[in-house]
Amino acid sequence: MSISDPSKRVELPSSMEGKTVLVAGAAGFVPSTVSEFYLNLGAKVIGLDNFVTGSRSNIEILNKYENFEFHECNIYESLPDFSGVKIDYILSLASPASPIDFKVLPLEIMRVNSEGTMHLLELAKDKGARFLEASTSEVYGDPEIHPQREDYVGHVNPIGPRACYDEAKRFAEAMTMSYHTKYGVDTRIIRIFNTYGPRMRPNDGRVIPNFINQAMKGEDLTVYGDGLQTRSFCYVTDLVNAIHNVLFSHDHTPFNIGNPDEYTILDAAKYIIEALGSTSKIVHLELPKDDPKRRRPVLDKLQAVSDYRPQVSFKDGIAKTALYFKEIAQKN
Ligand code: NAD
Ligand code: UDP
Repeated sequence: MSISDPSKRVELPSSMEGKTVLVAGAAGFVPSTVSEFYLNLGAKVIGLDNFVTGSRSNIEILNKYENFEFHECNIYESLPDFSGVKIDYILSLASPASPIDFKVLPLEIMRVNSEGTMHLLELAKDKGARFLEASTSEVYGDPEIHPQREDYVGHVNPIGPRACYDEAKRFAEAMTMSYHTKYGVDTRIIRIFNTYGPRMRPNDGRVIPNFINQAMKGEDLTVYGDGLQTRSFCYVTDLVNAIHNVLFSHDHTPFNIGNPDEYTILDAAKYIIEALGSTSKIVHLELPKDDPKRRRPVLDKLQAVSDYRPQVSFKDGIAKTALYFKEIAQKN
């Protein structure tokens, strides 16, 4: 099961027919988009979710595919009985991810990334499945090194308001590596940088859905602090492409994935007001404690072994995401 040459190039399969992919968190924004990608490649997809932050409408989209099977369950309590079921790939994508969830769901976040991840790793061990853990740029904390490479070990406050998420993801990475080194489980780790797009919750709390929905309603855009902190925004289809490349890489150590296109939050707010032709103004609210000041991925590691390049510009990504939010506002 172990990989001999991490520098070997990614080899993408042209089809996934006959393969089964288990997606934990399938009702969520990124995981439902990943699930649909693998269904379109011909795989059978088994989705798991407890709907803590996911939505039933995302599962309705996936239910239209005959190769999709769904189990409602809380993965840190227990997994369904998969005895006799062949599983080739396990994608560990279940976790609340918005800073507004950190206040409300801190223990659920810690449990899903520790006990939940362990249940999925045990299943991967039993089935001989390849396992992919969705970690985050948050493992770098408020980084002292910019931009961030995978060998930067981070600057995380272990007792701050973001600690439940940052430390749980660091633990999930450590456990994933331990299952690889102790049991030879064929693991991969991705560190996802800020990703946005259709299927996010309108009230998700993260900056892009907030700004788009505020601009659409003519409400003030809520910039936290002076807005000079930066983020690098990736459109969801580019992220899915990056996940696919890492899954078929030959390296167990973490890969940054995202888009290095970096914006100040203030510029993102101004851009969204202009692009949507909105009359909204900008207001400044208090900056949350430990809010990272700068964030941009170095993608050299993935790009050295694959053809991965983000394809969707911020302009196009915002237009597609705004269209999605307009459509769901009209339905409600
Ligand atoms: P999301 O909240 O839309 O999706 C997460 C899904 O996991 C939800 O459907 C939720 O209901 C489900 N879930 C949570 N706890 C569960 C449990 N105990 N049992 C079963 N299901 C559970 O969030 P997302 O943005 O799509 O994030 C998906 C993954 O990617 C997460 O692991 C997140 O930490 C990671 N990530 C996302 C980003 C981003 O910018 N979107 C950045 C870094 C990391
Ligand atoms: N932010 C903001 N207004 C909002 C939501 C977020 O100014 O309505 C800022 C937040 O303080 C952070 C950045 O936008 O600096 C990205 O926040 P988000 O919650 O999307 O994700 P984070 O990268 O902080 O996890």
